[in-house]
Amino acid sequence: MTSSTLFGGIEAGGTKFVCIVASGPEQVIEQVRIPTTTPEETLGKTIEFFQPFVAARQIDSIGIACFGPVDLDSDSSTYGFITATPKPHWSNTDVRGAIQSALNVRTAITTDVNGAALGEFQWGANRGCDPSLYLTIGTGIGGGYLVDGKPLMGLLALEMGHIRIPHDFARDPFPGNCPFHGDCFEGLANGPAIQKRFGSRGESIHDDDPFWDVEAGYIAAALTNYILTLSPKKIVLGGGVMAREYLFPKVRRKVQELLNGYVVHPSILTDIDGYIVSPALGNRSGSLGAIALAQMT
Ligand code: ZN
Repeated sequence: MTSSTLFGGIEAGGTKFVCIVASGPEQVIEQVRIPTTTPEETLGKTIEFFQPFVAARQIDSIGIACFGPVDLDSDSSTYGFITATPKPHWSNTDVRGAIQSALNVRTAITTDVNGAALGEFQWGANRGCDPSLYLTIGTGIGGGYLVDGKPLMGLLALEMGHIRIPHDFARDPFPGNCPFHGDCFEGLANGPAIQKRFGSRGESIHDDDPFWDVEAGYIAAALTNYILTLSPKKIVLGGGVMAREYLFPKVRRKVQELLNGYVVHPSILTDIDGYIVSPALGNRSGSLGAIALAQMT
């Protein structure tokens, strides 16, 4: 257990690192955004940011919610490394080790989506919900599934974006853009897949475009599978695609339609507006989730 009430949190993303010193959403005492360039430069600036807080004994643990793939197996020789990533310079980077050895504090690392899931569980929309699910639908698609407040781990971290869902060929001939699976959930429904279909970013596509019914159908098909296999008490949908708020009612309706009365619970049958929701912490889920992770170490 820590004697400090303040913690360090790093939301390590592919475009920027958000570093914060906080005890929770109400008390963020310092925050900085560092562009993700090379590991030397970005990790160097990250370490510099935390140095005075460590020296003053204000923090003694740091949580890292990191873009991936990250090795999360604590028995592995590459635990806490970003492994093989298409992001230039970052393959085989020991993110956790670099922070830990430079600052000599306790560190914990998880995936970016697990981080957001932890933030929403601790202080956000999934508070008190166990098990809970947070899904990001943006440039990538991934899920953080928490049991007893901890990300579920198996052989590896979960890869909830890559499940197979029915492809609506009649309305959507797009072959999908996942380099591994083509038309898996991520390959059909992530931001870049939308952009490829229209030749422009999703934001510029009109709300009335019939494509959004197809998109909502894909999201609902995936959620239906998670509801049937994982039975989360609540589902939070974040990420750039879900910033289009009016997708929510479409997704909720379609989930009810696909389940067709089979899952007999008020959360599905009558209270679905409160069951499939947007993040309560907005774009702070990840950085605050890193604080929640630091508190657990
Ligand atoms: Zn895939």
